[in-house]
Amino acid sequence: MSGMNQNARMGSVLRIERTSIYDGQGLRTVLFLKGCPLKCRWCSTPESQRPTPQKGYVRDLCVGCGRCVRACPQAALSMSEDGLKVLTDSSKCQNCFVCVAKCLQNAHKKYGSLQSVQEVVREIAKDEIFFFHSGGGVTISGGEPLNQPDFVAEVLQECRGLGIHTALETSFYAPYESIAKVLPWLNVLYVDLKHLDKELHKQWVGQDNSLILENIHKADQVNEPLEIIVRIPLVPGANDSDVNLSATAKFCKSLQKLQEIELLPYHRLGLETYKNLDLNYLLQELAPPSQAWISERADFLALQNPGVPIRVGG
Ligand code: SF4
Ligand code: SF4
Repeated sequence: MSGMNQNARMGSVLRIERTSIYDGQGLRTVLFLKGCPLKCRWCSTPESQRPTPQKGYVRDLCVGCGRCVRACPQAALSMSEDGLKVLTDSSKCQNCFVCVAKCLQNAHKKYGSLQSVQEVVREIAKDEIFFFHSGGGVTISGGEPLNQPDFVAEVLQECRGLGIHTALETSFYAPYESIAKVLPWLNVLYVDLKHLDKELHKQWVGQDNSLILENIHKADQVNEPLEIIVRIPLVPGANDSDVNLSATAKFCKSLQKLQEIELLPYHRLGLETYKNLDLNYLLQELAPPSQAWISERADFLALQNPGVPIRVGG
């Protein structure tokens, strides 16, 4: 591999998924990284939010044997009064993951690990033959991958050196210096447009959208032959209004490198993980939308003439 040195750069990796068909053209290997500066209320990967590896607990798998409680070096674990579940004192837990190793039922889970650029690229390169035959490649996602710009840039550079097609999925909520580090190694940029209204963006996502919109415009001006695909996580009651979809179409029309808009309808697949991490899910009452509603919203967006094809993603 080119550019490798003795002091291998490490990244905080959530997981690597092979042969995905949802994250770009052809078969993709998706590198999910940990850490995100935003707080989207509909987030479906709460295990990606913290920047470092962390512990979860799956109550349904626990048989109450107490092995983990006895093994924890910080005395952070105890049995509940009824003896049916393990309680974690997060103020004492040091994330040493001894309990994960001790549990024979896999009831304690480790979300994430630190991995070097070389380790990650080696894993990605295993599917080179599938990339070649399907027109696929690697997609880096998160969390927010731009939280680790140097790591991402090195992984992308190594992949491009191997002739692997590269894509990045990002909120673009990052300093432009971080973005500039990764753009030269990218074929396709997937960028989220969660809401066009500054205040409502802040209300649903935790930060306003000024930096994101500014970054998209800057990336659209670079000389590299970059393709941009805008992704809209379509959430009923949050960003599905006529006003917001019209504003989104108008913004999209201003972009030269835009190839496509992808709508990602709201789902609740992350709910179990919220439980495992003892986190509160903020949209408990929100039901996933019907297919008819999704089609109607996609048609409305198309009528606003955003200038590119619209696709409903999975
Ligand atoms: S070791 Fe596993 S099964 Fe036993 S009490 Fe701990 S979490 Fe439950
Ligand atoms: S990760 Fe380590 S410190 Fe935390 S509960 Fe498990 S054994 Fe104890």
